[in-house]
Amino acid sequence: MSYTYRRTYRGPIEAVILDWAGTTLDFGCVAPAVVFVEVFKRQGMAIDMAEARGPMGAGKRDHIAQITRMDGVRARWNAAHGRDATEADIDAMYADFIPLQLQSLSDYSALIPGTLEAAAEMRRRGIKLGSTSGYDRAMMAVNVADAKRQGFEVDTVFCSTDVRQGRPYPFMALQNVIALGVSTVEACVKVDDTVPGIDEGLNAGMWTIGFSISGNEVGLSLAEWNATPATEQARLRKRAATRLLQSGAHYVVDSIADLIPCLDDIQARITRGERP
Ligand SMILES: [Mg+2]
Repeated sequence: MSYTYRRTYRGPIEAVILDWAGTTLDFGCVAPAVVFVEVFKRQGMAIDMAEARGPMGAGKRDHIAQITRMDGVRARWNAAHGRDATEADIDAMYADFIPLQLQSLSDYSALIPGTLEAAAEMRRRGIKLGSTSGYDRAMMAVNVADAKRQGFEVDTVFCSTDVRQGRPYPFMALQNVIALGVSTVEACVKVDDTVPGIDEGLNAGMWTIGFSISGNEVGLSLAEWNATPATEQARLRKRAATRLLQSGAHYVVDSIADLIPCLDDIQARITRGERP
């Protein structure tokens, strides 16, 4: 044979799979960051916000484990305890994490501006809405209820505790594909504010969109962001966007308020025969 033939998907975007904190609610992804600081404090360990935020996107127990392995934290842990953190230490911190997070989630569950409008437009286009999160089921029940009170609902929710491995593995995203009855991963777009969340979408074979200012990469609440001088906003936006683009995200925009034009562009590329 002198030629081979490649099949390409030319149909509509069928599903958008959204992250929660830093993507649709909790501008700045503040809720988990403050709790990670507190659980380490209870072990006699001070960690700063940058350390607390480093592994964001991972499942929460895995996130705690990853913090203990950061060079600076590991050195301070050894200075305080005379050894590395053990699985039992991580279990103890995760046991502290769960009730603290459940108590504080609703303090940070306001929808990110643009979420309702983007969801309405996707519904109008017949796009199904899936979602994934590093929170567990009980935590997601709080977020889902708070979002519903504000008028935002998705079709499916999968947590890192529902699957064998959380992000960067693609399992949560693929559970959405199955539950939503989507015909191919090439018809899906994964949307997230963190590098592990972009990895999740790429590992699932999907188009990906990263949000720079509303999420963990900038890490400021909406009030703090609005109070930040324009030159500093520009610096923070550029640093966050660079990290997300270098993770391989197909698009990086400020927030969910900028989602729909990205979907238009992806749809045009699919129609031309491009693949994620
Ligand atoms: Mg997030």
